[in-house]
Amino acid sequence: MAASGGDLAGGSSDATREPNPLRAEVDPVVCALSGYCVDTSPELFELGDDHAQPRVTEIGPELRAAALEAEAVCPTAAIRLFGV
Ligand code: SF4
Repeated sequence: MAASGGDLAGGSSDATREPNPLRAEVDPVVCALSGYCVDTSPELFELGDDHAQPRVTEIGPELRAAALEAEAVCPTAAIRLFGV
């Protein structure tokens, strides 16, 4: 049973495995302008006239937790995160 070459945990040597970047979208129809996302993650979201909007196109690993937290606190589920 010597299965060699697993690609998940086998790790030859080089790659430092970072999570893929995320992309955030705010659904303008359901955003209630509550501002919780901006309070939680001001580096990622800002308020526009009618709805919140992402401030960055790609969310790197450093801000991944902040993006997930903003998604979680949004009372209307207007924030959607996509893997890039
Ligand atoms: S938390 Fe949700 S509803 Fe509130 S401003 Fe942000 S996206 Fe809009």
